[in-house]
Amino acid sequence: MTEQTVNDPAAGGPPPRTVPVIVVGAGVAGLVAARELRGHGIEVVVLEAAERPGGRTLAETTVLGSRVDLGGQWIGRGHHRAEALAAELGLTVFPMRTPARPAIVDGATPVGRRPAVAVATAALLLCEILARVGAPRSLTAGSVGSWLRRLPSRRARRLLEVFVSESTTADLDNYAMHALLAAIRYQGGLAAMLATAGGAQENLVVEGLGTAAERLAADLGDRVVLGTPVTALHRDDTGVTVRTAWGDYRAERVIVTVAPPKAATIEHRPAAPASRIRLQDNTCMGSVYKAVAVYDRPFWRARGEAESVLLSEPGTAVFDTSPPEGPGHLCMLVGGREARALDDLDDHARRAAVLGPVAEHLGPGVLAPRGWHEKSWHRDPYVGGGYSALPRLGDETGYFPMPAAPMGRVHWAGTETAAEHAGYVEGAIESGERAAREVAAFLVPNSTDR
Ligand SMILES: Cc1cc2nc3c(=O)[nH]c(=O)nc-3n(C[C@H](O)[C@H](O)[C@H](O)COP(=O)(O)OP(=O)(O)OC[C@H]3O[C@@H](n4cnc5c(N)ncnc54)[C@H](O)[C@@H]3O)c2cc1C
Repeated sequence: MTEQTVNDPAAGGPPPRTVPVIVVGAGVAGLVAARELRGHGIEVVVLEAAERPGGRTLAETTVLGSRVDLGGQWIGRGHHRAEALAAELGLTVFPMRTPARPAIVDGATPVGRRPAVAVATAALLLCEILARVGAPRSLTAGSVGSWLRRLPSRRARRLLEVFVSESTTADLDNYAMHALLAAIRYQGGLAAMLATAGGAQENLVVEGLGTAAERLAADLGDRVVLGTPVTALHRDDTGVTVRTAWGDYRAERVIVTVAPPKAATIEHRPAAPASRIRLQDNTCMGSVYKAVAVYDRPFWRARGEAESVLLSEPGTAVFDTSPPEGPGHLCMLVGGREARALDDLDDHARRAAVLGPVAEHLGPGVLAPRGWHEKSWHRDPYVGGGYSALPRLGDETGYFPMPAAPMGRVHWAGTETAAEHAGYVEGAIESGERAAREVAAFLVPNSTDR
């Protein structure tokens, strides 16, 4: 599907291909925006830099025929758009197997109800209160890392370090305490943010949530053009010239769905306003490594639940994501600085570093998976990381929801811009629908009646 035709008139090529709307990025937001526009009868082309659609979602087939998600996987409580999309696309949603609370394990030792857990729980409670009441700046100045270093217990500190790194994917020394509290407030509290059952990690998809993007892209057919990074957007009174390595397109309106730090590579003429440049410069993508190990069956259940937070390096969150009728899937997430530290290891050493501590907790059988799937999202050249873009320390422009006011004929979508559930697939869907409505209001009379 890669568009190879050079149509740069300046180079003596044919005139640019003209289409009413160009969507930049074939992640969930871009694909949903394109589908909505088609619903309004508006023709659209989606230009995607990578050689696959899906962006921060990616499903793979295992050696045992099951499907695993290396990107977005859970449909959380209240993620109604994602639920509806999954149902519409014929996907099978099931509740993840989850204990009342995850085991906390330090080496081979379950930490249980030790004082460190009480200290960490008290600190989390304090965060929740500060988030809800709006904390005085003096209490929340500086980075999360510096705040944690004030805690009296080493193990409590480590527990919170792993918890916050895994749930935000931030580098804790470059992530403001104020930003963490804003994120907790935005998500409606720590329970909604961290909980499995009843929270953001409630349900999984047998076929993989990444299959949603594959099916949306398949429905759009050759309107999705892969391997085509957009390099520049030149706006004028009658439209936008969209520059790619393979030549130019011309559109009446453009929707950019790329997260702000990665969208910085797209040149704008006339120049983007200072507020947009500041947003791009003062946000960064989170760092996250995800792996799924595949076994004939979830053998660990004979001795207990797999869900755990491992405090040894790399600090890892482990989940039992096995499908109801299927083989055993163990999902492992490492966030922030320790996710990037794994990049220094070769494939064999990285797998051993990740599975070793899990085996200490769940047994040596963990070390011999039938299948192994992994991805370091911060190394993805086009997505640049996950779960989402984050505000850099010292700047608040990147708090959720990130600004999305149109820049003339250029509109903005992407999960970071969602009014609700930004950072999740749910937010990506919301933003795609909203941007499509904005564009349709210009191109189709009475489109808001639809
Ligand atoms: C490891 C991981 C786990 C996650 N877990 C969950 C979860 O369990 N549940 C959940 O709801 N969410 C989860 N998320 C977040 C969720 O995946 C994202 O919020 C969502 O997929 C973002 O979609 P998007 O379309 O807004 O952005 P993206 O998916 O980032 O789409 C943007 C697209 O633009 C493309 N692009 C970039 N630059 C250019 C360019 N110059 N020209 C053309 N194309 C370009 C990119 O390649 C990409 O395909 C997770 C994310 C990760 C990484």
